[in-house]
Amino acid sequence: MASSSTPRNESVCPSEGEPLLKPAGLLFDYDNIACQRSGNDDDLDVHLLPKDSDKLTERVKPPVSDFFFIPQVNAHEGEGRQRKRVLVLCTGGTLTMAPNPDIGGALSPIPGALTDFMRSMLELTNDKMPNVVIHEYSPLLDSADMGPPDWQVIARDIKSNYLHFDGFVVISGTDTMAYAATALSFMLENLGKPIVFTGSQVPIAEPHSDARQNLIMALIFAARETPICEVTIFFHGRLLRACRSQKVNAGALHAFDSPNMPPLATTGIAINENNHLFLSPARGVLRVHTRMDTRVLALRPVPGFNDQILRHTIEAGAESRSLRALVLQLYGTGNAPAAKKDFISCLKRANDLGILVIASTQCHRGSVMMGHYATGKRSHCISLLTFACVFISHNTGKALESAGVVSSNDMTLEAISCKVAYLMGRGDLSIEEIGKLMCVSLRGEGKSICE
Ligand code: ASP
Repeated sequence: MASSSTPRNESVCPSEGEPLLKPAGLLFDYDNIACQRSGNDDDLDVHLLPKDSDKLTERVKPPVSDFFFIPQVNAHEGEGRQRKRVLVLCTGGTLTMAPNPDIGGALSPIPGALTDFMRSMLELTNDKMPNVVIHEYSPLLDSADMGPPDWQVIARDIKSNYLHFDGFVVISGTDTMAYAATALSFMLENLGKPIVFTGSQVPIAEPHSDARQNLIMALIFAARETPICEVTIFFHGRLLRACRSQKVNAGALHAFDSPNMPPLATTGIAINENNHLFLSPARGVLRVHTRMDTRVLALRPVPGFNDQILRHTIEAGAESRSLRALVLQLYGTGNAPAAKKDFISCLKRANDLGILVIASTQCHRGSVMMGHYATGKRSHCISLLTFACVFISHNTGKALESAGVVSSNDMTLEAISCKVAYLMGRGDLSIEEIGKLMCVSLRGEGKSICE
């Protein structure tokens, strides 16, 4: 473990960069927040009015229809209840894309596509559905271009509009959605409203798109009478805790999984909730922490790797102060080759230099259990005649621990990297304290006790 003399306030990353997304800010004019009538006496619906209705922020006004969509869900109980309000923040992704002839038919986001589509959604006329306000960010992005500065923009926009909505849906590309949603779950402490990320594998304009169903169910989960007040991902029939989720399939509609935790809910004919898994209700007011220190590197060694590259990376990272946390995806339960003596000494050196080394696993499911195996337990028979045997036993787990390496338990790489960036970004914790907190579940991201 790094010495406790590690500077506590070294943690604000100087090179986070500018967001590509432009902040939306508060989407309403306070003067207009009182109930408004549309002018049509038959229309008794009340709405918040968008501040700037001729810009991207729009109130979706669904066409009048008695079409009845049947989500098997009790979004609103009783007669005469006001519809809930949901803010949809659209960052881009495949859902919003169409082939662009100027770039050889590659997919790129189309501003207004989601808003136009939702305007025509008859499902939104159903009384069980919430009133929806959409904000499309500008520019719309492929999620590969999004990072912590953009996640901060989303967190701040949720904060600005928090009191005016019952829930939030964030539309994002799927490639980095698990990172963005995980980051938001750390940024938003004491969350008392549902935030549901979704997107699609097929653009919304395609007839066979998965967008419509993902969108409808995300809206339903953002507006339930008994809300699930967490950051979640809804995708292909499952509501997953964001900070447990990963994108696991680039070529199927079943794109996300939460490998070490069952879904919070599944949808089919009915919604089946695993309510024993829900986080307990927030105990305080919402607190938003947007600073993330992204001086984090994840490495996945393969058998035969050269320790020198690890040593160079650690030395260069420490010298340029561009590395503060190193996530090592080790084998199985956090098993490393004990026969490579330089490897453990590299990690010890990292620790001495104030770099937090976190052990994770290369496996999709399961947990790090440092010390589970006595790796490299080898017998060297010096001579059969002397019956002398030297028994060398290395317990890698113990060696890792004594080199200051901390366990990530059963957290995903997304959770480990966002959690450590969030904790380092807070600026009030030493590396030693951060190492201890890696073993404590803050938002339900992992088991609480290090093994
Ligand atoms: N490249 C897209 C993105 O992440 C993929 C998707 O949305 O499915 O923005």
